[in-house]
Amino acid sequence: CGIVGYVGGRSALDVVLAGLKRLEYRGYDSAGVAVLADGSLAAAKKAGKLVNLEKELSVRPLPAGGTGIGHTRWATHGGPTDVNAHPHLDGAGRVGVVHNGIIENFAALRAELADRGHDLRSETDTEVVAYLLAEEFSSCADLAEAMRLVSLRLEGAFTLVAVVADDPDVVVGARRNSPLVVGVGEDESFLASDVAAFIAHTRSAVELGQDQVVELRRDAIRITGFDGRPADDARAYHVGWD
Ligand code: GLU
Repeated sequence: CGIVGYVGGRSALDVVLAGLKRLEYRGYDSAGVAVLADGSLAAAKKAGKLVNLEKELSVRPLPAGGTGIGHTRWATHGGPTDVNAHPHLDGAGRVGVVHNGIIENFAALRAELADRGHDLRSETDTEVVAYLLAEEFSSCADLAEAMRLVSLRLEGAFTLVAVVADDPDVVVGARRNSPLVVGVGEDESFLASDVAAFIAHTRSAVELGQDQVVELRRDAIRITGFDGRPADDARAYHVGWD
């Protein structure tokens, strides 16, 4: 339902949680975050309101890091449980992904992953993406390219945002029939399903086009079409006060 990503010099956890709060008005049934720190990916997720997640984080804090993603979920596949909440991780816990929308062909992809020996934990349509991204990343070592290749295999409507422990300075996103906006800050970058999530930090935004992938770094954004061509039509716009 709501998605936030951040890479920069601040605590990603603080920025992501504040962004998720700005998206609360949209309604949701679970929430979760993942942060890259010390070469690994640490995640926390809880059914219920953001306050449940915050309680969990006060009992089991995540390490501090400058790259992170977060999600508020409106369940479509699998009930609103801790396990079904996003982020979803691959089996090795190296790739984390959050998702808005529905992946129509998830059952076929899940069966394919099961054939390759993967035992998925949740009932969501989303979890397959973490495993597919991990497989593609292991052969190309480029998370944006892995996201592009995985997106080509997905049917339905989706906004996806992902991180990988092996490339801690990058957040990637993809969109088809579901919104995703980049916020361009001063040596920091944001990704969200709605500008409301980062408007407190920057008013310079770039809307991702249909069937595009973005690679976000603190000082650069790179947008590519699902066809692999660089998108040169992306323009920053200024977000007004209303
Ligand atoms: N289909 C996904 C799920 O049920 C994402 C739902 C959403 O957009 O929040 O987990």
